Amino acid sequence: MEAAYYEIDPSGQARCRLCPHHCHIAQGHRGRCQTRYYDGRNLQALNYGQCTAIALDPIEKKPLYRFHPGSAILSLGSWGCNFTCPFCQNWQISQQEAPFGN
Ligand code: SF4
Repeated sequence: MEAAYYEIDPSGQARCRLCPHHCHIAQGHRGRCQTRYYDGRNLQALNYGQCTAIALDPIEKKPLYRFHPGSAILSLGSWGCNFTCPFCQNWQISQQEAPFGN
Protein backbone atom coordinates (compact mmCIF):
# COMPACT_ATOMS: atom_id res chain seq x y z
CA MET A 1 0.00 0.00 0.00
CA GLU A 2 1.43 3.36 -0.99
CA ALA A 3 2.06 5.50 2.06
CA ALA A 4 0.63 8.97 2.59
CA TYR A 5 2.52 12.12 3.58
CA TYR A 6 5.79 11.81 1.70
CA GLU A 7 7.61 13.30 -1.25
CA ILE A 8 10.58 12.42 -3.40
CA ASP A 9 13.34 14.97 -2.85
CA PRO A 10 15.74 16.21 -5.56
CA SER A 11 18.39 13.64 -4.52
CA GLY A 12 15.94 10.82 -5.35
CA GLN A 13 15.29 9.80 -1.74
CA ALA A 14 11.85 9.60 -0.20
CA ARG A 15 11.23 12.13 2.54
CA CYS A 16 8.54 10.94 4.92
CA ARG A 17 6.53 13.63 6.67
CA LEU A 18 4.28 11.44 8.79
CA CYS A 19 6.07 12.03 12.07
CA PRO A 20 8.67 14.48 13.42
CA HIS A 21 11.63 12.23 12.47
CA HIS A 22 11.14 13.33 8.82
CA CYS A 23 13.22 10.36 7.61
CA HIS A 24 15.15 10.57 4.35
CA ILE A 25 14.86 7.05 2.92
CA ALA A 26 17.06 5.75 0.13
CA GLN A 27 15.82 3.17 -2.33
CA GLY A 28 15.67 -0.27 -0.71
CA HIS A 29 15.65 1.11 2.83
CA ARG A 30 13.15 1.74 5.62
CA GLY A 31 12.44 4.65 7.90
CA ARG A 32 13.25 4.64 11.58
CA CYS A 33 9.87 3.06 12.39
CA GLN A 34 10.76 0.00 10.24
CA THR A 35 7.33 0.15 8.59
CA ARG A 36 7.86 2.56 5.68
CA TYR A 37 9.92 1.25 2.78
CA TYR A 38 11.06 3.09 -0.34
CA ASP A 39 10.97 0.79 -3.36
CA GLY A 40 12.41 3.41 -5.72
CA ARG A 41 9.00 4.45 -7.04
CA ASN A 42 6.78 4.95 -4.01
CA LEU A 43 7.04 4.94 -0.25
CA GLN A 44 5.23 1.83 0.94
CA ALA A 45 3.34 1.47 4.25
CA LEU A 46 4.23 -2.15 4.97
CA ASN A 47 2.10 -2.47 8.09
CA TYR A 48 -1.09 -1.19 6.48
CA GLY A 49 -3.98 -3.42 7.54
CA GLN A 50 -1.75 -5.73 9.58
CA CYS A 51 -2.55 -6.54 13.18
CA THR A 52 0.08 -8.12 15.45
CA ALA A 53 -1.91 -8.03 18.68
CA ILE A 54 -5.52 -7.52 19.69
CA ALA A 55 -6.86 -7.94 23.22
CA LEU A 56 -9.64 -6.79 25.48
CA ASP A 57 -7.88 -5.57 28.63
CA PRO A 58 -9.01 -4.27 32.01
CA ILE A 59 -8.89 -0.47 31.91
CA GLU A 60 -6.64 -0.49 34.98
CA LYS A 61 -3.83 -1.93 32.80
CA LYS A 62 -3.67 1.35 30.88
CA PRO A 63 -2.26 4.70 31.99
CA LEU A 64 -5.73 6.19 32.30
CA TYR A 65 -5.97 7.20 35.94
CA ARG A 66 -9.54 6.87 37.32
CA PHE A 67 -11.05 6.60 33.83
CA HIS A 68 -14.16 4.36 33.94
CA PRO A 69 -12.82 1.99 36.63
CA GLY A 70 -13.94 -1.62 36.19
CA SER A 71 -14.46 -1.31 32.43
CA ALA A 72 -12.58 -2.92 29.54
CA ILE A 73 -10.51 -1.36 26.75
CA LEU A 74 -9.63 -2.73 23.31
CA SER A 75 -5.89 -2.83 22.59
CA LEU A 76 -4.87 -3.10 18.94
CA GLY A 77 -1.36 -2.92 17.52
CA SER A 78 0.74 -3.47 14.43
CA TRP A 79 4.44 -3.75 13.50
CA GLY A 80 6.93 -1.04 14.19
CA CYS A 81 7.18 2.12 16.23
CA ASN A 82 8.89 5.45 15.77
CA PHE A 83 10.14 5.42 19.37
CA THR A 84 12.89 3.22 20.82
CA CYS A 85 12.06 3.38 24.54
CA PRO A 86 14.44 1.14 26.53
CA PHE A 87 11.56 0.00 28.79
CA CYS A 88 9.18 -1.03 26.00
CA GLN A 89 7.04 -4.05 26.95
CA ASN A 90 6.23 -4.83 23.32
CA TRP A 91 9.75 -4.63 21.86
CA GLN A 92 9.38 -7.98 20.08
CA ILE A 93 6.86 -6.42 17.70
CA SER A 94 7.59 -2.69 18.04
CA GLN A 95 11.23 -3.07 16.97
CA GLN A 96 10.66 -5.68 14.26
CA GLU A 97 10.70 -4.89 10.56
CA ALA A 98 7.18 -5.08 9.17
CA PRO A 99 7.10 -7.95 6.66
CA PHE A 100 6.54 -7.39 2.95
CA GLY A 101 3.21 -8.61 1.70
CA ASN A 102 0.67 -5.84 1.08
S1 SF4 B 1 9.87 7.18 11.60
FE1 SF4 B 1 8.49 6.27 10.03
S2 SF4 B 1 6.65 7.56 10.09
FE2 SF4 B 1 8.29 8.73 11.10
S3 SF4 B 1 9.18 9.99 9.46
FE3 SF4 B 1 10.41 8.08 9.61
S4 SF4 B 1 9.50 6.72 8.07
FE4 SF4 B 1 8.00 8.36 8.46
